[in-house]
Amino acid sequence: MIKKTEAICIKISPFSRTSHIVSWLTNKHGLINTVIKGAQRPKSWFVGQYDLFQTCEILFYIRSHNNLHIIKECSPLIPRTVFHSDWRAAAIASYFCDLIYRSSYGNTHIPEYYELLSTSLNALTDKGHDISIMSWYELNFLKANGLSPTLNNCVTCGKAITTQPNYTFTAQLGGVVCSKCSPSNNAPATTVSPDIIAILKSWQRTASPATARNIKPNHKQTLAFRSLLGIFISYHLDINPASRRIAIEISGKL
Ligand SMILES: [Zn+2]
Repeated sequence: MIKKTEAICIKISPFSRTSHIVSWLTNKHGLINTVIKGAQRPKSWFVGQYDLFQTCEILFYIRSHNNLHIIKECSPLIPRTVFHSDWRAAAIASYFCDLIYRSSYGNTHIPEYYELLSTSLNALTDKGHDISIMSWYELNFLKANGLSPTLNNCVTCGKAITTQPNYTFTAQLGGVVCSKCSPSNNAPATTVSPDIIAILKSWQRTASPATARNIKPNHKQTLAFRSLLGIFISYHLDINPASRRIAIEISGKL
């Protein structure tokens, strides 16, 4: 059976001397792995037709026995060539793709991933990297997985979170815990200030990375919410990718 779909190239690996295995996030079929035969031959029809972070239109044969499909045709729709020169943005884009690749098990298809990744790559292409885009992406990635941190109410008693100090954040319980409930549980917790909760809530609410960029956190706030989100992702998705650490180091904000 042959299928045509729009797809974002999220990983390229060598396969034999002349071929590639390319992983795509598609808008119709979720994550798929494909073989592009002869991709590295100088006269290959596929030369220049795909690259990391590009959106392409692909035509592929479905092979059900090994989940490694065969590309028949491929053509770029959104080249995003800025990633060739903006290596800070490229490091963040690599993390975005890696997070999706690592959390897509078997035939898992989370439809929200495609729009989220496409929008985020476009935002990096248009305005480059900044402090906000990575954490905004992580919060919306968690939302797509039904794993949004609880920020409006105490996860234990349900009491509304206000601007009072002395809240803690507990990944194991799924979010913010009020001062009254905090001593009653033994889960590892981090003190979190109201300004950090407000920033996270704001990013959680907006579907637009452009709006997310309007928030300009300071260095101390950046350290705090990046730590919280790293712990949360590691606990709930059981992944702690090196690509996150690299993206943070390379983007030069910590
Ligand atoms: Zn409480």
